[in-house]
Amino acid sequence: TTFSNPPLDDHLISNIELSGYKVPTPVQKYSIPIVMGGRDLMACAQTGSGKTGGFLFPILAQAFVNGPSATPVQTGMARQRKAYPTSLVLAPTRELVSQIYEEARKFAYRSWVRPCVVYGGADIGHQLRQIERGCDLLVATPGRLVDLIERGRISLQNIKYLVLDEADRMLDMGFEPQIRRILLARDFLKEYIFLSVGRVGSTSENITQKIEYVEDVDK
Ligand code: AMP
Repeated sequence: TTFSNPPLDDHLISNIELSGYKVPTPVQKYSIPIVMGGRDLMACAQTGSGKTGGFLFPILAQAFVNGPSATPVQTGMARQRKAYPTSLVLAPTRELVSQIYEEARKFAYRSWVRPCVVYGGADIGHQLRQIERGCDLLVATPGRLVDLIERGRISLQNIKYLVLDEADRMLDMGFEPQIRRILLARDFLKEYIFLSVGRVGSTSENITQKIEYVEDVDK
């Protein structure tokens, strides 16, 4: 099996190969066709299994094919400084979001997709300047993202893909209120794929229950 079976975009395949990856890992083989088929996925895979590629590859493949989505008509200075990412990856820690961001940069190389990373406990000014330069794939810790939404600097209006990476750990770490707050922006989420990746050892029953609980918010 190679990255062209299931078929990914040619440019993405060349970026993946530039990273030195030759064949998809099992979790990638499993996730790519499911996510590209427009279905939700919950995957449990341990660190080292290639789960980051498992969600980044199909998301980027679709993004490359679809092209940039039009942002709403922008009026006034304040609005122009707001970013409209098309994909959102939430993860619990600075280390994790930074790793995901570095992977995303490699795979988005020389494409229209601009990855950005934001996390708490660091200077927000620097992160705001990053976002202002464009932000298509946003990798964020939940607290900092809520802050940026409340400052009017990020809109979730164009989000097509949402990943909760290590969803179990985010809940363990007490991020539930922030995740609820982000999901409550649901009227912004038109057509999204709910993809959740947790540790091996978290029973799927456990995670599914938690996700259903979050979904209940809108009912
Ligand atoms: P992850 O489980 O996403 O943290 O990835 C674990 C490690 O495997 C990282 O160092 C990746 O760079 C590497 N990796 C991910 N996908 C592949 C692949 N298809 N082939 C070789 N290495 C990979």
